[in-house]
Amino acid sequence: MGELLKKQNILIVDDSSFNSAFLSNILKDEYQIRTVKNGKDAFEIAFSHNPPDLIILDVIMPDIDGYEVCKKLKSVDTTKDIPIIFITGRIKEDDEIYGFSLGAVDYISKPYNAIIVKARVKTHMELKLYRDYLESLSYLDGLTGIPNKRRFNEKFEFIWEVAQEEKSKIAIIMIDIDNFKAFNDIYGHQAGDDCIIQVAQQLSKTVISKLDFVGRYGGEEFICILPDTDLNNAILLAEKMRQEIMSLNIKHQGSSVSDVVTVSIGLAICIPYKDMNSSILIKLADEALYLAKDTGRNKISVNSKFLDSFTL
Ligand code: GH3
Ligand code: MG
Ligand code: MG
Repeated sequence: MGELLKKQNILIVDDSSFNSAFLSNILKDEYQIRTVKNGKDAFEIAFSHNPPDLIILDVIMPDIDGYEVCKKLKSVDTTKDIPIIFITGRIKEDDEIYGFSLGAVDYISKPYNAIIVKARVKTHMELKLYRDYLESLSYLDGLTGIPNKRRFNEKFEFIWEVAQEEKSKIAIIMIDIDNFKAFNDIYGHQAGDDCIIQVAQQLSKTVISKLDFVGRYGGEEFICILPDTDLNNAILLAEKMRQEIMSLNIKHQGSSVSDVVTVSIGLAICIPYKDMNSSILIKLADEALYLAKDTGRNKISVNSKFLDSFTL
């Protein structure tokens, strides 16, 4: 939610400083405003890590005109959902229809009426805020509130590509609650849900580096990505996780290894080579987890065979 409470930001693209300043003045109390004078600079901001929530785009500009800028933004995945309002001096119906056909959400015509500009912008900003909120929900697990598998998949792809480029190490930690079926059978499904929530919260607290990621992978299984890490640190973190879950002290009479809830952990690490598929690392972590289960539970098992063969 923190993200959503920030002032939303608007990019004004107009070759006339006079027009930009005028619009800026009308909108600056409610929104953060950035202004640029041409399409090229607009692309730079739109494709950056801090894209605008809305673009107000002049139709007539030297170099690339507003329609071309709009076409380009609508053709790229990361910018296609940014709402665009055209500003134009001419208000011929054909132009308006053309603008809408390119995906614009609205038109503002010159000379500006401050009240109309504010009202139109407000409508589209509220819609954008709502859409962002829905999107953020779609990345969170409904039960625990931590990131879900969908979020994991996106993050992992991104981190994987960076590791591939930088030839850096990347580790995956898979965490699975031991004998959880028995826990549900003995204490009921509601208590099972509560247990999953507590484990999720504890794991999130244990992963303190902003670069690391922890999410719910499914059922009673969690997954953690450690970018740019070494094997020792990854093992230390996994061990800390195992101990802290035990320290939650959740009674578990059906456990085959303890009288409280425990987890088994599979850890895999590698330096991804060019063209290596990211699913290999998941598979290695999964194998390690299976081994931890098979050799006693409430323990960590490490799969570093890729690291060994590629670095030794
Ligand atoms: P192991 O130690 O080998 O992991 O045994 P296990 O019993 O934990 O593993 P198994 O895969 O047999 O059972 C997992 C159980 O987790 C079964 C399923 O009902 C339960 N489970 C999965 N998701 C949820 C959930 O969201 N809430 C609750 N309460 N239970 C869940
Ligand atoms: Mg389990
Ligand atoms: Mg399981």
